[in-house]
Amino acid sequence: MKHFPIFMALEGRRVVLSGGGEAALAKLRLLLKTEANISVVAAEAAPEIEAWAESGKLTLIPRAMEPGDALCATLFYAANEDDAEDARVAQLAHLDGALVNIVDNLEDSQFITPAIVDRDPVTVAIGTEGAAPVLARSIKKSLEEQLSPNLGLMARIGKAFRTKVEALPFGAKRRAFWSDYYAADVGYADVAQERLEDLLDKHLHAPEREGWVDLVGAGPGDPELLTLKARKALDNADVVIYDRLVAPEILELARREAVMLSAGKEGFGPSVTQDAINEMIVSHAQSGAHVVRLKSGDPTVFGRLDEEIEACEAAGVTWTIVPGITSASAGVAALGQSLTKRGRNSAVRFITGHDTKGYADHDWRALAQEGEVAAIYMGKKSARFIQGRLLMHGAHPETPVTVIENASRASQRILSTKLSELEPSLTEAKFDGPALVFLGLAPRAALQAAEEFEQKEAAV
Ligand code: SAH
Repeated sequence: MKHFPIFMALEGRRVVLSGGGEAALAKLRLLLKTEANISVVAAEAAPEIEAWAESGKLTLIPRAMEPGDALCATLFYAANEDDAEDARVAQLAHLDGALVNIVDNLEDSQFITPAIVDRDPVTVAIGTEGAAPVLARSIKKSLEEQLSPNLGLMARIGKAFRTKVEALPFGAKRRAFWSDYYAADVGYADVAQERLEDLLDKHLHAPEREGWVDLVGAGPGDPELLTLKARKALDNADVVIYDRLVAPEILELARREAVMLSAGKEGFGPSVTQDAINEMIVSHAQSGAHVVRLKSGDPTVFGRLDEEIEACEAAGVTWTIVPGITSASAGVAALGQSLTKRGRNSAVRFITGHDTKGYADHDWRALAQEGEVAAIYMGKKSARFIQGRLLMHGAHPETPVTVIENASRASQRILSTKLSELEPSLTEAKFDGPALVFLGLAPRAALQAAEEFEQKEAAV
């Protein structure tokens, strides 16, 4: 983050702008929404600027900028649409001690003005550090559509009602009140006021809420592979208890006030014991919280889900499962392959490389058959063991094996090999993220060809 977003109080502060054309007008329209003391220095100013000066909204200094014009200014805008003049005035303002922005010149600006969605007092500022102005505009457009034009009015009325809401205990109850209030679009001030009174009454007399647990699949990493239900659960959670494998981008989606607790485990390698995790889940739910237990992929696949369900059952805590996309699904999608295929395999196995007791044993004889397909979770460390067992049971050394690391994430990597070379190839590839081993699957030829082409290009 090169630019840190802040909201600056401009009441009574000096803001100076140099320029009198279109660029100046665009900035002034924004600045006039604030309570700053605005001065415009321009030898030639557009009629709107002159009109604003006449009505006292700003001060117009009708000449070119001179040293001292930006003294005591908090912010300075160079908006002359002339590089040489902008550089000159920026230098003067800099000497006067103001923070300087040169319009359309990110490089030489000390601050930038974001795209703004204005529902005063609610303001959304969107910045892309100059990387994608088109994207900023499209985000602004979709926010403009999403946020009711009455939001500002509702926020102002809500703010005036805050002291009355202190009758509700701090925390979940007060939050539930406000989210109920903002959930409905109230068009008029008197309706909003009435609604607040009714809502407060309802919330003050509501029976004690019971907590519950959603056991939620976070998918393989790409936030777009979250289900809508998972998204909703994260939006509403009071407490989120997440595994280490859950991608940070997904944790970002949790409600800002939610308490975020790491269960710190990856697959079968817990650093917080399962009993401690169960206890965490149950105790938060019992204190009335909506707990989201967030697990990577699908919670029903190698997720020790049943132990957590049993703990909830034993404590009489309500629970639901929100399924997710398991990493095997994301993995084969990246390979351009199907998990099952007519004439190749009519069954697929999801197996684990190791379990709580060490290397996991499987029906190696069956897995060694031609055409078998298996997605091996937690298979990195046990790759040599699996390779040895399969070869010992007669698997063909040429059997395709593909390892995919960080499936669906930007850092995704694919190792395409064969059973006889799985090790040492995997160790040499130095995968350090979560990885799945696919037995009996190679990336589709087209993907492989594309990759080879890229490698060749890189080598040139
Ligand atoms: N419930 C999860 C699996 C948990 S076990 C699911 O449905 O995907 C943890 C193992 O899942 C890891 O050791 C790794 O083998 C696999 N895994 C999880 N996320 C992955 C990803 N993005 N890419 C590749 N493998 C992943």
